[in-house]
Amino acid sequence: MGERYDVVVVGAGNAALCAALSAAEAGASALALEKAPRYLRGGNTYFTGGLFRFAYDAPEQVFDLVADLTDEERARVDLGSYPESAFEADLARMTDGRADAELARVLVSRSYSTMAWLRDKGVRWALAYGRQAFERDGRARFWGGLVLEAVGGGVGLSDRLFELAERAGVEVEYEAEAVGLEMGERGVSGVVVRGPHGTRKVRAGAVALASGGFQANAEMRARHLGPAWASAKVRGTQFDTGDGIRMALDAGAQAFGDWGGCHAVAWDLNAPAFGDRKIGDLHQKHSYPLGIVVDVEGRRFVDEGADFRNYTYARYGREILTRPHGAAFQIFDAKTVELLRDEYRIPQVSKVEADTIEGLAAGLGVEPDGLERTVAEFNAAVRPGAFDPAKLDGKSADGICPPKSNWALPLDTPPYVGYAVTCGITFTFGGLRVDGRARVLDSEGRPIGGLYAAGEMVGGLFYGNYPGGSGLMAGAALGRAAGEGAAGVSG
Ligand SMILES: Cc1cc2nc3c(=O)[nH]c(=O)nc-3n(C[C@H](O)[C@H](O)[C@H](O)COP(=O)(O)OP(=O)(O)OC[C@H]3O[C@@H](n4cnc5c(N)ncnc54)[C@H](O)[C@@H]3O)c2cc1C
Repeated sequence: MGERYDVVVVGAGNAALCAALSAAEAGASALALEKAPRYLRGGNTYFTGGLFRFAYDAPEQVFDLVADLTDEERARVDLGSYPESAFEADLARMTDGRADAELARVLVSRSYSTMAWLRDKGVRWALAYGRQAFERDGRARFWGGLVLEAVGGGVGLSDRLFELAERAGVEVEYEAEAVGLEMGERGVSGVVVRGPHGTRKVRAGAVALASGGFQANAEMRARHLGPAWASAKVRGTQFDTGDGIRMALDAGAQAFGDWGGCHAVAWDLNAPAFGDRKIGDLHQKHSYPLGIVVDVEGRRFVDEGADFRNYTYARYGREILTRPHGAAFQIFDAKTVELLRDEYRIPQVSKVEADTIEGLAAGLGVEPDGLERTVAEFNAAVRPGAFDPAKLDGKSADGICPPKSNWALPLDTPPYVGYAVTCGITFTFGGLRVDGRARVLDSEGRPIGGLYAAGEMVGGLFYGNYPGGSGLMAGAALGRAAGEGAAGVSG
């Protein structure tokens, strides 16, 4: 008869382990097949900041998710609220209204209950002070609709999910690469798996695919995103090569979403080709709203202050790739350097400090006349007003192209610091079409029997841009639905 599980999950990142946990909760036997060896496990999830975006109407709802907050701490934070309408509006704004309505509704309406489900399962949450708050009048004021991260960030989240899944009876097999789907009379009936000892078939009541996007596959990047993307640095795992997407398409699944789009950010110019497990996400450089960004000719090319960073960062990587040598330089002066995020203080950072703009340009390899001209023009364009990084302060630099819409301070206080960055791809937006129950749909829009998908490999939610913290949330919400559904059909 061979091996058989009620549910086989492909992958072992956030979406897969949420699927496995919910299948086990429903009483199903579950196997997670993971292509990576154990010591490289965790997928992109391991590299994340562990930040989750979810809707809440009042701070008390957030406090309910976080263990051990003292009254003093509660009084010291200003969380505001982030109702479902605000989450929905952010998603619509980021995607120019193109996000699939059903998937958007699932993401938003199940966001809080999924956070609570994960808490009940044993995932621990913490307030994201370091990344999402600025001090104002003795209180930590949170901004951008993003307030919680998993304890220990992506590493903590990944380790915890493995621990919880194993405790729930989920089997995890490493160096087990899914290479194809087996089809039976009622749809998918198993998975073909390649491992160190050869290829075998594992039978399944249902299969939940959660094996990531195709960002680590240079050929697919070049084909779908454009030739320049072949050389982009990959921020996370080298194992997300689009396998699950290809297997499902071969089985008749419908391709969906923004196949020419991806999430890509400013990433250290000297970072390795794939994610570094010790550095995690710290090669990212997300404090550009506090300074200016120029190319190697010293020219600005984005509105650094168009919005809070978590509404612009995911599309600015793409802009960097269009510049000469795919390089850019973030420039700050002594007035804002203290406000830079933690990732600017790692020893591996590509940083130059100088007392003059000319010296900074020479150190960074930027054309000095170009940079001096840009800084002089920028400084002259800065409008008066109060600078406040915790809100859209409207303090702009106008009459230049591009303008800077918020947080514009003249660069006039040495020492000046510059950071060299390039484009780091996070994950791809195109993938499979699923419905609100995470069932994979065929080209006619009908569910393929026994086939579910979740996480990065699902298309239709993100187009062109992305509100930070939505990837883990979408993966958890749809992963949970996939596990539930798969357990239901397989029983
Ligand atoms: C540096 C970085 C920081 C990020 N920070 C955040 C954040 O703070 N918040 C947020 O919401 N999102 C963040 N993201 C986005 C993040 O990628 C997703 O939100 C989420 O981690 C994706 O989870 P997933 O389960 O879909 O994929 P993954 O976690 O990548 O899991 C996919 C798994 O499938 C495995 N696999 C692939 N092919 C096969 C195969 N053929 N057979 C078996 N297994 C296979 C892979 O090895 C991998 O383990 C970040 C991403 C990166 C790279």
